[in-house]
Amino acid sequence: MSTLVSPIYLDNAATTPVDPRVLEAMIPYFTNKMGNAASRNHPFGWAAEDAVDLARTQIANLIGASSPKEIIFTSGATEADNLGLKGVADMYARRGNHIITTVTEHKAVIDTCKMLQKKGVDVTFLEVNEKGMITPEQVRAAMTPKTILVSIMMVNNELGVRQPIEEIAKVTHEGGALFMTDGTQAVGKIPVDVNAMGIDLMAFTAHKMYGPKGVGALYVRRKRPRVKVTAQMDGGGHERGMRSGTLNVPGIVGFGKAAELCALDMEKDHAHVSKLRDKLEAAFLEMEEVYLNGDPDARTPYISNLSFKYVEGEGLMMGFNQEIAVSSGSACTSASLEPSYVLKALGLDDELAHSSIRFSFSRFTTEEQVDYAIEKVRKSVERMRELSPLWEMYQEGIDTSTIEWAAH
Ligand SMILES: *Cc1c(COP(=O)(O)O)cnc(C)c1O
Repeated sequence: MSTLVSPIYLDNAATTPVDPRVLEAMIPYFTNKMGNAASRNHPFGWAAEDAVDLARTQIANLIGASSPKEIIFTSGATEADNLGLKGVADMYARRGNHIITTVTEHKAVIDTCKMLQKKGVDVTFLEVNEKGMITPEQVRAAMTPKTILVSIMMVNNELGVRQPIEEIAKVTHEGGALFMTDGTQAVGKIPVDVNAMGIDLMAFTAHKMYGPKGVGALYVRRKRPRVKVTAQMDGGGHERGMRSGTLNVPGIVGFGKAAELCALDMEKDHAHVSKLRDKLEAAFLEMEEVYLNGDPDARTPYISNLSFKYVEGEGLMMGFNQEIAVSSGSACTSASLEPSYVLKALGLDDELAHSSIRFSFSRFTTEEQVDYAIEKVRKSVERMRELSPLWEMYQEGIDTSTIEWAAH
């Protein structure tokens, strides 16, 4: 059967489809097993609590946690990032008020840190190199006796680059601080072991790993050291007092099932996606003036970010976005069409940042879909370059770097 049902979805870093096996596991918890997991005095409540316990174990197993109790359910990674950063800043305020993070974090971390700055917390935003990488030495140099937390993402959501988390965690602990990571683009896709990696807190979410939207978790270490975060939501004292609110039982069941399947299928999925990513990149990098963004030697195969010089990403996308769903290097949500802050942090000029496209894959992406995407995008690039005076100049050997790029 052909998998070429248009539009083709290559935006899996934004969200993945729910695996049919996950959906099947969730359905009873909307219908006959609809109890509240906090209802301790009847079978409906017990069934819900049992299901949540199982999910907590499935998720703890996926990340190598020592106990299911270390999993605190939230509404997603954004909430988990907020809870980890604000919760640590508050809980450890007497010990210090300095947090270290990076300029290429997800907005859920950057904006939370900016909010903390307004409240008097001192935040260092480390710069990345031209490949998007942070070094442990940078972290060591930024640490002070006041540093309470270092928060550095495991895998970047625009580039797919993987930071040297183990080494950074080691340096962090030597400096006496806690290490947190946003693991959203890593968990379920590459092996993650919170003990082996030295992670004290980790945010992640179901909808980037074939689970439903609106449910995520914060891993909070309980031993060596015992980490505590101040609740950001007051109420019934659920989740060991760290996150009040009736648990999203069907969502949590789906999250747990998704975690179990990711553990089972991780190697197979990784091999499948690697093959597709390599094929797509080989086809595009064969073209003139196409560049790969991010460190090619330190990344997951799930994301490929390419700059197609002499075309503008948003315009390029208009040529095929009825057929292929991807993301561009322009933050098209903002009225000003600002180029991506992540690509800018790598030192890309506005022109190259605007000409970037992020392709992201899943276990459901097929080779047929990738072949189709290659064809469509290649044709669009060629068509747009034919209309571009800069491309014409480049072809004639004129140095176009001296020419001002039109304001957007
Ligand atoms: C998607 C994403 C988030 C936000 O997750 P939600 O569950 O949608 O709130 C946070 N961090 C990273 C790296 C992401 O990719």
